[in-house]
Amino acid sequence: MVSIIWLGHAAFKIVTDKGKYIYLDPWLNRNPVSSIKTKDIKKADIVCVTHGHNDHIGDAIEIVKTTGAKLVCSPEIGHYADSKGLKYNEASCTLNIGGSARIDGITIHMTFAAHLTELYGEEWLSEGKMLPGAGSAGYVIETENGVRIYFAGDTGLFTDMRMIGEIYNPNIAILPIGGKYNMGPKLASIAVKWIRPEIVIPMHYNTFPIIKQDTKVLEDYIKESIPGVKLVVLKPGGKFKYSNT
Ligand code: ZN
Repeated sequence: MVSIIWLGHAAFKIVTDKGKYIYLDPWLNRNPVSSIKTKDIKKADIVCVTHGHNDHIGDAIEIVKTTGAKLVCSPEIGHYADSKGLKYNEASCTLNIGGSARIDGITIHMTFAAHLTELYGEEWLSEGKMLPGAGSAGYVIETENGVRIYFAGDTGLFTDMRMIGEIYNPNIAILPIGGKYNMGPKLASIAVKWIRPEIVIPMHYNTFPIIKQDTKVLEDYIKESIPGVKLVVLKPGGKFKYSNT
């Protein structure tokens, strides 16, 4: 049994079949809708960061420091984390698009994401200084028992989502629907058609008024055009459990 908990915005916690804790894009302390803060996190095994925007890299470095989790990220974010005290490719496991790593029985593949970004770290928060070269990615996470979760990160629609569906055949797809900085519900519904997961969990919406969305658009489209796909709408703090056995 795998649990997926939406922490609000693009932040998720996954508890795997074997009880490993994976955090995805854990932006918590400054996240207005976050269901937890970093002080609530006592255990983490893997922390995946899709890109350097502050609402994604968020509190990842602090969580890795306090829990000893492995940071999964691009080489650029890995070097940035090294400058903050997380030894490159020891505390971190850097990947680039198309690459994979196996950590604690969990396989993580880095996938393409269509999204512009630089790196907004601590320097951004303290002095408004942006650092170059982080790029954006998504992840496919395969748990110990073979549950496959596609976490798209921030992305526009791109046709290679068909390939992600074909190659990784994800059980669950977590897709952004905010429609301002990534796909809106209509484009996300096309993504669902291309990826063909069993379950879709929308994210990256209703954090701020500017990315307010109604999941009904996605729900209606899925019902009409993509039978067999189930939309799971969570509230921040809400949990979805999935078993492939
Ligand atoms: Zn972003």
